[in-house]
Amino acid sequence: MTMIELRDVRKSFGRNLVLSGIDLDVRAHSVVGLIGPSGSGKSTLLRCMNLLETVDSGTVRIGGVDLTKGGVDADQVRQRIGIVFQSFNLFPHLTVLKNITLAPIRVRGTEAAHAVDQAQRLLDRFGLADKADSYPDRLSGGQQQRVAIVRALAMEPEVMLFDEITSALDPELVNEVLQCVRELASNGMTMVLATHEMGFCRDVADQVAFLSDGQIREIDTPANLFRAPQHVETQKFLRSVIAAGRLAV
Ligand code: ADP
Ligand code: MG
Repeated sequence: MTMIELRDVRKSFGRNLVLSGIDLDVRAHSVVGLIGPSGSGKSTLLRCMNLLETVDSGTVRIGGVDLTKGGVDADQVRQRIGIVFQSFNLFPHLTVLKNITLAPIRVRGTEAAHAVDQAQRLLDRFGLADKADSYPDRLSGGQQQRVAIVRALAMEPEVMLFDEITSALDPELVNEVLQCVRELASNGMTMVLATHEMGFCRDVADQVAFLSDGQIREIDTPANLFRAPQHVETQKFLRSVIAAGRLAV
């Protein structure tokens, strides 16, 4: 079953054509990695998948629902599609637990006791059980990002989008966050992740899409795309990544 289907998606900011005809199919329970140079449109593509941006033309279907048709309830869509960014954006004045239960209670109308139960189960699952009553500024960046992931999961999304979620972290904290994503993958979450972590992408993704200039130049299994990239732009990009020591060969 296809969970996410993009057809000829186009998006400009002023005169800057940022997505120039994107087609993408993401199967349910699969993981798609988005790689490509800075400015190639990865973030914009993710944002179009949960209506943080509206597309100029083309269609975006998630779980069979066409988001680009009029009359779609954006809040409802966003509940089904979680997104986590490079900056954790936790509410500094709320405890970890409150950060997590806020949206389920306010937006979904989940009963408070149930929301707390669910939050505690998620914290436990991601190794954060003892942080429920802490404030975000007492946590490491890795812990804060794991809380941000838990907060998104508390809405019980069908799809998770990750935009460079380890880019702001000290190197020694990257792995604990990637481990959360691995855990989600092994439990069958459908995910699209823009990442600079090529080794991780190679391990966890079922398909990797290479973007440049707002186009998917090629999409393939990680084994194929990393070992034998077909497009000259992909080859160039991977060479620069290898030269920077960000992909072991
Ligand atoms: P990536 O995530 O691959 O680095 P982005 O999607 O962030 O790429 O950006 C693609 C292009 O779109 C860039 O040229 C960027 O400057 C432009 N862009 C992104 N968001 C906006 C915005 N809100 N307004 C204007 N231009 C934007
Ligand atoms: Mg980006």
